[in-house]
Amino acid sequence: MGQLDTRRAVGCELCVQDGGTLVLRGNKLRVIRAADADHPAFYRVIWNDHVAEWTDLPPEDRSWIMRAVAKVELTLREHLKPTKVNLASLGNVVPHLHWHVIARFDWDARWPAPVWAPVQREVTNAEQRLLVPLAELDQLVAKAVDSLAP
Ligand SMILES: [Zn+2]
Repeated sequence: MGQLDTRRAVGCELCVQDGGTLVLRGNKLRVIRAADADHPAFYRVIWNDHVAEWTDLPPEDRSWIMRAVAKVELTLREHLKPTKVNLASLGNVVPHLHWHVIARFDWDARWPAPVWAPVQREVTNAEQRLLVPLAELDQLVAKAVDSLAP
C-alpha cells in the first residue's frame, strides 16, 4: 500500500491511537472494544493503514476485513445470544476505515433505535446482563479473529 507517509493522516486519531481497549492487533487490522456502558459488547474492526473508504482497499483486503467482521459477529452471536447484531461503517467523524460490530439486546438503553440515537430507557447494569464477562468475551473475539491468520 504505497509509502509509509501515505498510511498515516495528520490529525487522524485512529492513526495514532488504538481507539479503545485493544483486543487483537494484526498486521493489517486490529480489533478494539469501545467503552460504552450502555452497549458493552461494542467492538470495532479497524484497518491499520489510513484509508477512508472500504473500496479504497484492493479486493483481497476488502475480503480480509469482512472475514474479520464476520468472526466478531459470529463470536457475539454464539456467546451472547443477542437480539440482533448491528454492523456499521460510517466514518463521518473519523474517516479512517472501521467497522462497528455491536451486540444489541431488546433490553438495551436504545433498543430498537441505533446506538447513536437518544436513550429510550435507563439501564444501569448492562455489562452484568451479558452471558459472558467482557474480559472473557475479548479473549474469545481475539481467538476467533486470530484464527484467520495464515
Ligand atoms: Zn487514520
